[in-house]
Amino acid sequence: MPITIEFSDRLKALPPYIFVEIDKAKREARAAGRDIIDLGVGDPDSPTFPHIIEALKKAAEDPANHHYAFDAGLPQLRTTIAQWFQKRFSVSLDPHAEILPLIGSKEGLAHLPLGIVNPKDKVILTDPAYPAYRAAVIFAGGKIVNVPLKESNGFLPDIKKIENIKEAKVMFVNYPNNPTSATATREFFTQLVSLALEKGIILVSDMAYSEIYYDGQRPVSILEIEGAKEIAIEFHSLSKTYNMTGWRIGWACGNSKLVAALAKVKSNFDSGIFQAIQVAGVAALNTDEREIEDLRALYQERRDLLINGLRSIGWKVPSPKAAFYVWAKIPKGFTSSMETSKAFLENADIVVTPGNGFGEAGEGYIRMTLTVPKDRLNEAVERFKKIL
Ligand SMILES: *Cc1c(COP(=O)(O)O)cnc(C)c1O
Repeated sequence: MPITIEFSDRLKALPPYIFVEIDKAKREARAAGRDIIDLGVGDPDSPTFPHIIEALKKAAEDPANHHYAFDAGLPQLRTTIAQWFQKRFSVSLDPHAEILPLIGSKEGLAHLPLGIVNPKDKVILTDPAYPAYRAAVIFAGGKIVNVPLKESNGFLPDIKKIENIKEAKVMFVNYPNNPTSATATREFFTQLVSLALEKGIILVSDMAYSEIYYDGQRPVSILEIEGAKEIAIEFHSLSKTYNMTGWRIGWACGNSKLVAALAKVKSNFDSGIFQAIQVAGVAALNTDEREIEDLRALYQERRDLLINGLRSIGWKVPSPKAAFYVWAKIPKGFTSSMETSKAFLENADIVVTPGNGFGEAGEGYIRMTLTVPKDRLNEAVERFKKIL
């Protein structure tokens, strides 16, 4: 008798991976030698800044960095994060109790629910949302309640809708937002914090794109709002800011009890970030602000080129204020996100992400990234012109 291996119920409960078909079609097209323009990947194309690589090289040669890392991260990394946070958001954090380095922020976002969500607890997610939240809540046995993000409300959830949800335990928010590129206003965060304090809803803020913003409009941290530290934890990442997606380093900060819950979960899963990468992380956070300015300028030029190009061929798309995504309604004549993505790949060799992969409310949209050079974006516009 052959042995049957069955996935656990919690694995079976995960939503289907919508991107699988597009991924497969993309691989086949590449293998067939077609010249694919990939506007699907949310990963910076620029290399990591050289001073960060130098810091890693030096630290990697020091045997002191070859051991299990400090549980809670190098003290120097935590104090550097506190200084960075003070300078960027004027929020002071206790480096020991209110900051926890992570092996990338996704890891922390995915582990946190295990420390704060009991089976059947209600967790509010936005729709669309970064897919990792959904999986994390399902793994913890929580019950997901979706609130839609609508263009008419600037892709912010309706506060009234949240107010009407009974006995919610936790809510995830993500601004600057992936996939919509929307940013949160200070007014929205103020209302959200005040509601959360009144109803005892834990707020989880994902700020992976805090430094990728345009037109000089710097995104707000939820921890800037008075009282937020009583109820909120915020996730930050070095991935997008310093072109370090493969390095795996980020942090959580905010309410000390929430930070402690995450630390306790993690102490049972991992043994910290390779210490040389933590040393490199210190170098990253001390990057000259002018270098980050240049990175923003690079994305902003690409944004303007793509948006203007698409508008010139009659596809009206809003210009993102932050992050590196263009969230566009599918063009006239197409009936679904998936059909559009397939048609673009089939007829123009362009990969875009179908919006429904981020939740049902993403149906009718596609996501394009600005992580490809200008000449390729120009070429993409030329190809769209031929098929639209
Ligand atoms: C990229 C991304 C992350 C993950 O960042 P890492 O620190 O590399 O794990 C988290 N949230 C959102 C919304 C992202 O797009």
